Amino acid sequence: MSPVFNFSAGPAVLPRDVLLTVQEELVDWHGSGMCVMEMSHRGREFTQIIHEAEADLRKLLNIPSNYRVLFMQGGAHFQFSMLPLNLSREGDTVDYVNTGHWSKIAIKEARRFANVHIAASGEDSHFSSIPAEAGWQRSANAAYLHYCSNETIGGVEFPFIPQSAFGGNEVPLICDMSSNILSRPVDVSKFGLIYAGAQKNIGPSGLTLVIVREDLLGHARPSTPTMLDYSVHADAESLYNTPPTFGIYVAGLVFKWLLEQGGLAAVEQINIEKAALLYEAIDASNGFYTCPVEKPFRSRMNVPFMLHDDALDDAFLGDAKAAGLLQLKGHRSVGGMRASIYNAMPLEGVQVLTSFMREFARTHG
Ligand code: PMP
Repeated sequence: MSPVFNFSAGPAVLPRDVLLTVQEELVDWHGSGMCVMEMSHRGREFTQIIHEAEADLRKLLNIPSNYRVLFMQGGAHFQFSMLPLNLSREGDTVDYVNTGHWSKIAIKEARRFANVHIAASGEDSHFSSIPAEAGWQRSANAAYLHYCSNETIGGVEFPFIPQSAFGGNEVPLICDMSSNILSRPVDVSKFGLIYAGAQKNIGPSGLTLVIVREDLLGHARPSTPTMLDYSVHADAESLYNTPPTFGIYVAGLVFKWLLEQGGLAAVEQINIEKAALLYEAIDASNGFYTCPVEKPFRSRMNVPFMLHDDALDDAFLGDAKAAGLLQLKGHRSVGGMRASIYNAMPLEGVQVLTSFMREFARTHG
């Protein structure tokens, strides 16, 4: 079978070497005679797996010792509710930045629990850019500031980390990093809490990662369901209930793979190269392809693009599939195409895609 390249936005492509290790270890993990799926989450073997996964993640992101790593479930969607329940009290104001689809869903959920103030919105530019931070209208007393560092559908990525301090107060900075975590180094110490669904740059769906500063634990509202209280999971070291064991195992292998690549600084260089190649192909197509996002805010992970005539979309997708280029259809809410080029997408995949795009434009132009 000739190689295929999978541009899915998530669940997304995993490193091939990781999948091969999973295959090799599937029925007998390290001579235990058991598959990881069959192991007690409190047994010696799984304890080693989860401890190594956390240690490797800490190494990759250089996570300070006053931050806890939680391996959770429920996707980023659960975080949308957990944040206001744990980090604000009834009647508090919470600040949100609206940069598109996932910001809006986080905002809608937070409104059930707190007074949401929109500190900035990209709506006026149809979410093709991020408003300059100098113009943000932040609340004087927000319990936290929330933003989404990479809008997976719109393809808009923050080129900066917002200030946490405001008006002389240290306001916890909360970030939905679902679709660009581990794609570049990031200074964790600037954040109160970072969360991410695993199914893009971490591992299989079903696992959600939370990195939280210790002083933010233990303040959940009294009515918070036990499972939605961060401190319950922190106290139990992610084993309050049965965690997604297989997902944690695969994520651990992905972390080891990233360390073997040279860590996040090395991975970032490849991601810059891949994104540059793809945007170059779009911009050099004389309007055959267009990307709606303004240049400084173009995502390195999710590249949305339109064909000049949407009547060609089906032919593009059909020919791409025949060429081994899979899952390029844009999100149903925006149409067009989207190529997600997460860490596990090799440079070669983007090279094959851009050659295909040039040839398609030549024959259909
Ligand atoms: N936030 C972002 C940035 C996402 O890309 C997604 C999923 N595509 C979500 C939140 C929701 O994640 P989940 O489906 O895991 O709840």
